[in-house]
Amino acid sequence: MTCPCGRRVSFPELRDTLGCCPDCNAELRVSRSYHRWMTLLTLSILIIIAVSTHTSSSSGTWFLGVVLFWIPLRVAGAKLLPPSFEVGRFQTKFTVMASVFTCALTVFAIEFVLFGWAHLALGASSQELSEHLARISVPLGWVTSAFIIRPDKSFTDVCGIIFANSFFYGIPMFACYRVVRWAHDRDRTVQIGIAGRVDADDEEE
Ligand SMILES: [Zn+2]
Repeated sequence: MTCPCGRRVSFPELRDTLGCCPDCNAELRVSRSYHRWMTLLTLSILIIIAVSTHTSSSSGTWFLGVVLFWIPLRVAGAKLLPPSFEVGRFQTKFTVMASVFTCALTVFAIEFVLFGWAHLALGASSQELSEHLARISVPLGWVTSAFIIRPDKSFTDVCGIIFANSFFYGIPMFACYRVVRWAHDRDRTVQIGIAGRVDADDEEE
């Protein structure tokens, strides 16, 4: 990338200078559009892989495999398409994908660890346990019987099924968070606007 000062900066150099141009010291970061396009590209490839490897018996293990393939794809993508930079402070900002993933992971942890193991620890009957497992197989269990947790499923299948279903709760959870955040930000903007107007009125008096 070329810094506004005209200096060409390489990625290893940026790493050494902690993200600053070696000449003018301007802070440089990987561009937002690069992140966006890489996410879109990775997601598209992942969907193609998912569709082409899916069979009627594909279950939780298949889902986990597809999700974990995200990591080598992103690494390969970064090697093949080196990032572009822009001037600006580096911020650890949660992307939409990472946020949805975190929400799904939270739901997964609650359902699997808290409820699942609590059932076992409290000595739930096999009837109660199978009812619980049927409940957490929803909604994907409604779509395909391969995603219903049954005693013949392997451990990775069970994890994959619960995790895949977690996305159906994680996405609305993330959407709610964004709406609350948006309302809060708008509120603040309005308040600042009113405060600004009061100040202006005061000055006029
Ligand atoms: Zn520079």
